[in-house]
Amino acid sequence: MVHRLAVVVPTPAHSSVAGPLSYRSELALAPGTLLRVPLGRREVLGVVWDGEAAALSPDAGVAERPVAGALEGIGPLSRQWRDLVTFCAAYYQRSLGEVALAALPPQLRDLTTAQVARRLKRSAATDSAGTPDTAPELTGEQAAALRAIDANDGTFLLYGATGSGKTEVYLQCVQGLLARDPQAQALVMVPEINLTPQLQERFVERFGAGQVVAMHSGLTNPQRLKSWLAAHQGAARIVLGTRMAVFASMPGLQLIVVDEEHDPSYKQQEGARYSARDLAVLRGRLEGAKVLLGSATPSLESWHASEQGRYRRLEMASRIGAGALPAVRLVDMNLQPKHAVFAPPLVDAIRQRAARGEQSLIFLNRRGYAPVLSCTDCGWKSECPHCSAFRVFHKIDRTLRCHHCGFTERVPRHCPACGNADIAPVGRGTERLEEHLAELLAEAVRPDGQPVRVARMDADSVRLKGALQEQLAQVHAGAVDVLVGTQMVTKGHDFRRITLVAALQADSALFSSDFRAPERLFALLLQAAGRAGRDAAQAAASEMWVQTWNPGHPLFAALRRHDYPAFAAQQLKEREQAGMPPFGFQALVRAEARTQETAQAFLQAGSAAAQDLAAAHGVTLYSAVPMSVQRVANVERAQMLVEGASRPALQRFLAQWRPLLQASRERGLLRWAIDVDPLAI
Ligand code: ADP
Ligand code: ZN
Ligand code: ZN
Repeated sequence: MVHRLAVVVPTPAHSSVAGPLSYRSELALAPGTLLRVPLGRREVLGVVWDGEAAALSPDAGVAERPVAGALEGIGPLSRQWRDLVTFCAAYYQRSLGEVALAALPPQLRDLTTAQVARRLKRSAATDSAGTPDTAPELTGEQAAALRAIDANDGTFLLYGATGSGKTEVYLQCVQGLLARDPQAQALVMVPEINLTPQLQERFVERFGAGQVVAMHSGLTNPQRLKSWLAAHQGAARIVLGTRMAVFASMPGLQLIVVDEEHDPSYKQQEGARYSARDLAVLRGRLEGAKVLLGSATPSLESWHASEQGRYRRLEMASRIGAGALPAVRLVDMNLQPKHAVFAPPLVDAIRQRAARGEQSLIFLNRRGYAPVLSCTDCGWKSECPHCSAFRVFHKIDRTLRCHHCGFTERVPRHCPACGNADIAPVGRGTERLEEHLAELLAEAVRPDGQPVRVARMDADSVRLKGALQEQLAQVHAGAVDVLVGTQMVTKGHDFRRITLVAALQADSALFSSDFRAPERLFALLLQAAGRAGRDAAQAAASEMWVQTWNPGHPLFAALRRHDYPAFAAQQLKEREQAGMPPFGFQALVRAEARTQETAQAFLQAGSAAAQDLAAAHGVTLYSAVPMSVQRVANVERAQMLVEGASRPALQRFLAQWRPLLQASRERGLLRWAIDVDPLAI
C-alpha cells in the first residue's frame, strides 16, 4: 500500500509553495516524524505534517516522489510542537518550511539516518545525576509567589525587585514540578547567552548535571544536537536557553520560565522575527503548561496584561536579606563646570568608596573611544564609505571601525581631505571614559594603599572566548575598583561589592522618536540600580547617580521612588491616547535595494495595491521612509509602518497583503520582510 504524506520541507520565506509538499511512502508515518526527502536535486530534512493530501500544494504537475527514509529512533515531534510552528509561521508571515526547519538543530539537517541512529546510541548514556544541593528556606514573599503558582494555571507575571530572589522561585518551582511528576520537563529562558553560564551553574548545583541541558547559539552543532535529543527524548528534565530554546521539543513540558521578560533580546531580528516571550505564552496555552514571566521592570505589554487580569501578577517588593534599593541621586549637569564629563561630586563619591574598599560601576551606552573622529580644520568626519554612519575611533588598536558593516581601517595620520595633522576625537565612548576616569582617580587609593584600579567591560573587551567570565571573576574577587561598561554590565550579574552605580548621558532616549525609548531607558536605569547594594551590610549606603540635563523629567521622578507602577501607568495612558501598543497593533515592512528610490518604490507600490484591502480591515498604511540608519554595507534601506486597531484584523490584512507585496517586486529590490510587533520603529 502506498501512503501520501504531507511533508514540510525547507522553503524560502515568501515562496508560493508555502505549505507542505506531497510525497509517497511505503510506510504510514505519523505526523511529526522526521524524514529525508528529495527536493529538486537535493535530499533534505523534512517533517511529516498534518492534513489531507488534497489540501497540499502539489509540486506543479510533477508526480509525487517517494520519501528517502525516516530518521529512525527519533520519535515524532508532538502535535503541540507542530501547532507552535504553524502559529509562528502564520503570525510572523513566513513560510512553514522556513520556521519548522530553523526550529530544529542544524546538524539534524546534515545527518543521514544511519548517522543519527549511531549518535542516539552514544547520547543514551546520560551523566550521573550528582548530589543536588539543598534549597534555602524561602522568604514570605517567595513562598507566597510559589504557592500562587502551584495553585493556579495560566501565565504569571512575577514582578520582583532586583535581588528579590526571583531565580530562587524559579528553582523551587521547577523542583516541585520534577518531584511531583517523573515525566515533567521545564524550560527556562534568559535573554542573553552571557547569562546562561551562571544560571546553568545554579541549576546544575541544585539538580545535578544529568538533568540540565543548554540551548543557545554559542554551542557547537554536535552539542546542540545532543541537547536537543536529550530534551526530545525526555532524558533532560530542564532546558536552559536563549530565545531559540522556545522551540525545544519537550514531550513533558509543564513549565516555561522567561527571565527578564522585558528584554528586547527575546525578539529575533532576522528570518522569522518572532518574540520568544510571546511564543512562550502561546506555547504554554498549547501545552497546558504554566508560564512564568519574571522582571523588575516588566514590558508594558505584560504589565498591561496583568492589569487586565489576563496574567496573574505576583509581587516581591523586598530584597533578600533586608537590603534596601539604592537611593537615586540626580545630578543637574546645567550646574556643573563647563565640559565636565563627570560631575565633581560624583568623582569624590567614587574616590571615597574605593578608599573604603567598595566598588563603583559606571555605565555608558557607547563602546569605542569616540563615536567620531573629526578634522579641526576642514570639518572632515570619519564617515563609513559604505554606510550612512560614522566610523567609531578605537584607540586601543588605532582603528576606525564601522559598527554597522564592520569596515575597519587604521586611523589616518593626516586628514584625508586636507592633510591637516590635527584630527581629534569628538564625543566619548567607554574606552575614552575608562582613560579619563583613570586620570581623575590617579591619586586615589584603596584601603591597602594601592592605587585604584579602573577596568572596562563591553563587547570589545569580552570578544575573546572566556574573557567575560574572567573579567567577571576579577570584579567578584575585588581586583577591580571601578568598572566602566555598556549596558552589558547592567544585566543580571550578581555583583556583591558594588555600592555605587552611575549612568552617564542617559538623556537622548527622553527625546527619541521611538515611542519605546522611555520604557527601555527606565528599565535600563532601574536594572543598573539593581547592581548596587546587593550585599545587605552595604545596602543602606548604596547609591545610583544619574547625570542629566533634564532633572525635572517625570521619568526621573518615578525612578527616584523606584516606582515602576507609576511610570507604567503614565506611559500606558500616553500609549492609549495615541493608539500605540499594547492598545494598537503594528507591523513594519522593510525593503532593501541598491538605491533608496527602488526600496521606497516597492513599498509605495505595495501600499497602492492594498488600499481597498486596508480599508476593509481598518488598517492604516503610512508612507515609506528611509530607515534611521539608511545605508548599511552599500545597501539602501526603507520601511513602512502598518497599524491596526485589532490583532486579528491586522493578521488577516497581512496574510492577504503578502502575495500582493511579493508581486510588487521590481528589478533592483534585494530583500523585503515583514516584522510583526516590531520593537524598534
Ligand atoms: P533576582 O533574580 O530577583 O535578582 P536572585 O534570585 O538572584 O534575585 O537572589 C539574590 C540573591 O539572594 C542570590 O544570591 C540568592 O542566592 C539569594 N537568595 C535568594 N533567595 C534566598 C532565600 N530564600 N534565602 C537566602 N538567600 C536567598
Ligand atoms: Zn581636514
Ligand atoms: Zn559601514
